Amino acid sequence: AGHKVAICSQQTEPNGKELVKRNVVRIVTPGTITDNIDEKSNNYILSICFHKDIFGIAYADVSTGALYLSEAQTIKEVEDLLIQVRPSEIITNTKTKEYDALLGCVKANLVPKFNIYADYCFDATRAKKACHKHFGVVNLSVYDLSEQNVAGVCAVGGLLEYLNETQKRSLANINKIIYQKQSEFMHLDANSRRNLEIVENMSTKKKKGSLLGLFDKTRTSMGARFLKTAIEQPLQNSEEINARLDAVEELLGNVILRSEMTEILNQIFDIERLTGKIAYGTITPKDCNTLSQSLKNATALKFLLDDKVSSLLLRSCVEKIVDTSAVFNLLDSAIRDNAPVSTKEGGYIKLGYNEELDVLFSAGTLGKQWLAEYETKMKEQYGIKNLKVSYNRVFGYFIEVTKSQISLVPESWVRRQTTANSERYITEELKEMEDKIMNSESRSLKLEAELYTQIREFLVSKIVDLQAVAQAVSYIDTLLSFAVVSDEYNYSKPEINETINSIEIIDGRHPVIESLLKSGEFVPNDTILNNDEDTTLIITGPNMAGKSTYMRQVAIITLIAHIGCFVPAKSAKISLTDRIFTRIGASDDLTTGQSTFMVEMTEVSNIINNATQKSLLILDEIGRGTSTYDGLSIAWAVLEYIAKNIKAKTLFATHYHELTDLEGKIDGVKNYRVLIKEVNNDIVFLHKIARGSANKSFGIEVAKMSGLPSVIISKAKEILTIQEEFAESNSKIDLFAKPDSDKKTKNNINVDEVINVLAELDMNTVSPLIAFSTLQNLVDKVRRDR
Ligand code: ATP
Repeated sequence: AGHKVAICSQQTEPNGKELVKRNVVRIVTPGTITDNIDEKSNNYILSICFHKDIFGIAYADVSTGALYLSEAQTIKEVEDLLIQVRPSEIITNTKTKEYDALLGCVKANLVPKFNIYADYCFDATRAKKACHKHFGVVNLSVYDLSEQNVAGVCAVGGLLEYLNETQKRSLANINKIIYQKQSEFMHLDANSRRNLEIVENMSTKKKKGSLLGLFDKTRTSMGARFLKTAIEQPLQNSEEINARLDAVEELLGNVILRSEMTEILNQIFDIERLTGKIAYGTITPKDCNTLSQSLKNATALKFLLDDKVSSLLLRSCVEKIVDTSAVFNLLDSAIRDNAPVSTKEGGYIKLGYNEELDVLFSAGTLGKQWLAEYETKMKEQYGIKNLKVSYNRVFGYFIEVTKSQISLVPESWVRRQTTANSERYITEELKEMEDKIMNSESRSLKLEAELYTQIREFLVSKIVDLQAVAQAVSYIDTLLSFAVVSDEYNYSKPEINETINSIEIIDGRHPVIESLLKSGEFVPNDTILNNDEDTTLIITGPNMAGKSTYMRQVAIITLIAHIGCFVPAKSAKISLTDRIFTRIGASDDLTTGQSTFMVEMTEVSNIINNATQKSLLILDEIGRGTSTYDGLSIAWAVLEYIAKNIKAKTLFATHYHELTDLEGKIDGVKNYRVLIKEVNNDIVFLHKIARGSANKSFGIEVAKMSGLPSVIISKAKEILTIQEEFAESNSKIDLFAKPDSDKKTKNNINVDEVINVLAELDMNTVSPLIAFSTLQNLVDKVRRDR
């Protein structure tokens, strides 16, 4: 609910003399929750600080230990990053707080408001010191940071102090800063992320129906998180991209290896978050069992791959699975199998791990044996058949005898408690044994706790190794997921590197739509986009023909190539693309007080201001939310500007067929259309893209398919005819000019006549035969006149 909760607990054992010390041990905040969080996503706390014209942005997931640092120059870039990261909590200083009022994503509640934390913690000198202290380094250049990154360091410093104050523990798993330069990743603004449905479906806001939903075949939750980040951050470095592609290719070609890997990965749990629990001191004995099992399986994965893979990336992952045998051997020897979650009751340290503990355990076990024997002995000695030796917290051990048999109880037994049906007694011998048992139990509990602390300390010393293993396994799991999806949907390896300047796709498909259709139903299409002759493709065609699908598929194939996965196409050459922009669909943004048209124009202006020659632009119907002439003029001007000045690879779908005249007049503009077939006044969508332009939108035919009442369809056709006639004669349109057209539609059906027949029918009296023949006559008439 966005609240913070302070957890207070006792710091000393009650000793009956002094007050027990109490303290706040942790403040749980939305961004620092470690329990019951979505296992397939990160839970980020974000810190933002504006310093000398730059926004420093640091965000961390305390459950995994990941800490990223990024920078933004403009408020728009801040917005894009916030939408990508989706933090659960944002902290800042007073100076930066004022910017949250400018952010649409804050207004729309997609990310929380900025919360002011102590300003001095964001001070440059103090923040730098905090970083040095936390990471134990004397210079932040080890993280590729320099004096240029003051804003970023301020954000990290503020975040570390906030985490120290609220979490009150070592945070040993946050042990490095991952500095993310903007140039390392393809820039995708908030719109494009939403429009391309990268991690969530646009209408349901769920993962299902998105690219991530299709691609996530990971077996581990840490792999799922890594995959999500990989999809959210397409790469820019072609070497890294190709390293992934080579790894996917290798896995794709080895079905047996893949199934062996899957089996092992199924047995690996969230080592990354278990490591977080180690740092937090919340790891339970049961978690230790899970950790040990997972590490053994990670080692098995290493051995499996070591013999069988040669691609550079897989080999480097294999190497990162460092030897953790010291950890799992210790855990195996120290922690019982099926250990409990809680340490309260003890019984989680294995027999044989510590001699002293073994003695105490056996005293406890012997004591319990003695009690059983004592019960039998008493029953026999006094002939009390249903006598029972039991235990409760208040009276300790006692002998219980039902009321019917108390006459047999000897005088030496001391009565302790009377219940409804029985009396409870203690004896001298029972008391002695109770002391022994209790003593050994409390001593063993204490000793177990001490041993467990030592084990946890050892685990803390191994955090870096465990994180390395977790990261390598996550990466392998993601690459395997890429290979599985590439195999399942028959994807192919794209060519992508610095020397390629064009996007050339043969038989490309939209991965998500294809997966929803029956095999073979999706119609593949080719694409050629380059910076010379085929820069701007104007796509025309009827509504519903597949223009949006086609354009999105080009964007998504380009994006998939940049995440290093095979693509849904027969073959593809993809140029390195710095940004993908999309302008699709219309929606009011009431939260930011913008109308549909204003939203559209703001998006277009963002594209115009930021796109480069290396960008890919998807512009779906620009200029729709205003009058036809205004819209056409804007669309024309935008298209011309992009084609002449930006020269970004552009797909431009439009129903303004006038724009197709630009081919031949502006360099790089090419017309494409989506083919349809007309059969008996109906249209059949072929979903095939071809050169040339469409001359009709068939909007009314498509509206008819949607179930609009026929009277509206008829009227629309009538108005269209009038408009077309006036356009031909070049005179001013007068929609009321033809009185006859009020009665008759273009297709000659006399609507009034049909209505009159229907109005005269009395449904209460008409016989079935008459009803049927009337209907038959109407159908015949309509078919004839249509
Ligand atoms: P509008 O102009 O009305 O926005 P559009 O031309 O953009 O329409 P899309 O939304 O892309 O049309 O496509 C409509 C539907 O057609 C899609 O939801 C999909 O089901 C189907 N479709 C599109 N392209 C293909 C294809 N290549 N193969 C098979 N089905 C397709």
